Amino acid sequence: MGSKFKKIIKKCKSLEKELSKYKLWASLIPKSNFFKNFRDVFSQPEWDILRKAVYKKDYYKCSICGKENIRLEAHENWNYDYHQSIQKLISVDSLCYLCHRNKHLGHSGILIREGELNQEELISHWSKINNVNIKQFREYEVKVFELWNLKNKFIFKILDNKGINIYEGASLSNVLKLIADDYEN
Ligand SMILES: [Zn+2]
Repeated sequence: MGSKFKKIIKKCKSLEKELSKYKLWASLIPKSNFFKNFRDVFSQPEWDILRKAVYKKDYYKCSICGKENIRLEAHENWNYDYHQSIQKLISVDSLCYLCHRNKHLGHSGILIREGELNQEELISHWSKINNVNIKQFREYEVKVFELWNLKNKFIFKILDNKGINIYEGASLSNVLKLIADDYEN
């Protein structure tokens, strides 16, 4: 690995460390993996089994802000191993609409431009959950996209929680095991 890549990896890690201080932050999916996820590889009935197990695991609340009695969405969280170019599943969590839109800031930008999402609502939710001033959002957003631009320099293999490439042997039982383990803990 060249020293240029070593520098990039170091920068990615330091940005991740900084951003993960926020309770609600966006770890954006690199471009080459857009739309590559369990929703893509599982059938609709399998995805329904998965998301219902996720909602039950989180006691039917948003796992970030705790909102309940709302429509939940299942969100996959991935870990990025830059040295090995691996994007590995670490959890699947229930999120409310605004927490989920905050997780996908790139796509949310499109929704805002199309008038489908209210930007002030999105940012004020972010500021409330993280207990920081809304003025900090711009600075945060720059870092989110700086990290994303660096991630785009890699081609990550997508692995499930057991290390299986999801496009070679996606297994619902592997992911359900991860969710059951989370539920017990
Ligand atoms: Zn929420």
